[in-house]
Amino acid sequence: MKRLENWRGEKMKKIVIATKNKGKVREMREALSHLPVEVVSLAEFGALPDAVEDGKTFAENARIKASFYRGKTGCACLADDSGLEVEVLGGKPGIFSARFAGFHADDATNNEKLMEELRKAGVESSPADYRCALAFVDEDGTNLLTEGRCDGTVRMVPRGENGFGYDPYFYTEAYPDRTMAELSLEEKDAISHRGRALRAMVKELEERLR
Ligand code: IMP
Repeated sequence: MKRLENWRGEKMKKIVIATKNKGKVREMREALSHLPVEVVSLAEFGALPDAVEDGKTFAENARIKASFYRGKTGCACLADDSGLEVEVLGGKPGIFSARFAGFHADDATNNEKLMEELRKAGVESSPADYRCALAFVDEDGTNLLTEGRCDGTVRMVPRGENGFGYDPYFYTEAYPDRTMAELSLEEKDAISHRGRALRAMVKELEERLR
């Protein structure tokens, strides 16, 4: 067991966040800050191979990443997988959200592809949802999984500068007149798929680390 002690002498479990995305590490570190854990990023472990995300669902891919990096680092590991599902596109882009427009896709080309697919389907909007799965694999191999969902509508009218990915086109059910890219970080976190999955995971970890 890799355990440090905090200033009160409590045992600290080391949890690796399976991402090099600094924003996600910051978000997860903050959510776990009241627990006796030391949260570190994958970047601390130098060059590691990428996990092969060949699952068919967000949950499978999150589990694949968490157990792969649990093996590579020897530490408990928390991994997420997320994406957008659009009803008229039969749930696409789903687990392929990051690469919807191909291998070199970025947010702009993915959004162009989304607009192109809506045009092909002959619609200007569609019900849609964001999904996030979070998987935790402990040092002893124990698995925890939580999921979060955020319902809304994708429309061909982009608005807002905040957020990332498909946010300028995603009008949330909670704020029907605003896109996700028009919400503050706090507003997004309160209703987002990732915020919901993370709060559920924090509860599970509180139980486990009690
Ligand atoms: P990943 O789980 O970080 O690999 O994200 C997968 C992809 O889903 C991202 O590249 C985005 O295209 C999309 N996505 C996931 N969460 C969000 C979000 O909160 N807003 C916008 N796009 C998102």
